[in-house]
Amino acid sequence: MAWFRKEKRGLKIQPKKTIPDDLWIKCDTCGEILYKKELEKNLMVCPRCGHHYGISPEEYINILFDKGTFSENDREIKSLDPLKFVDRMKYADRLDKAVKTTGKNEAVVVGEGLIDGIRVQFGAMDFSFIGGSMGSVVGEKIARATRRAIDRRQGLIIVSRSGGARMMEGIFSLMQMAKTSACLGRMHEEGLPYISILVHPTTGGVTASYSMLGDINIAEPGALIGFAGPRVIKQTIRQDLPEGFQRAEFLLEHGMLDMIVLRSKMREHVIQLLHFMLD
Ligand SMILES: [Zn+2]
Repeated sequence: MAWFRKEKRGLKIQPKKTIPDDLWIKCDTCGEILYKKELEKNLMVCPRCGHHYGISPEEYINILFDKGTFSENDREIKSLDPLKFVDRMKYADRLDKAVKTTGKNEAVVVGEGLIDGIRVQFGAMDFSFIGGSMGSVVGEKIARATRRAIDRRQGLIIVSRSGGARMMEGIFSLMQMAKTSACLGRMHEEGLPYISILVHPTTGGVTASYSMLGDINIAEPGALIGFAGPRVIKQTIRQDLPEGFQRAEFLLEHGMLDMIVLRSKMREHVIQLLHFMLD
């Protein structure tokens, strides 16, 4: 059986360790095995079923802004721990950990740049920073971006992706709902446009404040958008919830959204809207 041994010896078995495990992704929605590079080229949208994966603020900036025109503001602001809050761990430690893993000081990136040559103020939330939760710094940064838009007579765009208010800051996080809403109210009085883009998932105090206050509210397909979760609502009203409840398509049908736009078409739509509202 020499031939057999020879062939066996010739077999090259790839040691498991050398295969990078992040090369392929199984689609959460349709189960298709996707090549990660292909998925990235497709703006993190599944080419088979159209599922829109969450992306970072930086990726959204790349999609929306003219190349190399974006600059960040207020990067340095950091949250204090006003309540000295402790749950499973100290809030101060949780913040440190989030800063280390994300390389950011907070759950929102704000700044400004050009979109088709139009200067706009911008904010995008980072879900990887404590679930994109809105604490006092997120509120302050959104408020500052809004004030800058008013002072310079520019439009404002905010991309929301959030688990809601940051409970570790208690009332200080809830106050941000009033603060951001008041700033946006002033913006509205000044006749300046605010476009809100809602990405999966946008929930809680963010939905209940700035993300639903756009002159135009745009969602990505399939995005979960709501205040309380479906289980809580079901228990409260003691009724079964309709199919597709809290999904972008359901909200559009019921007048809560103005449009649903594919990520690949988002820049094109935003440009059209900015020209329409600013010219
Ligand atoms: Zn898919």
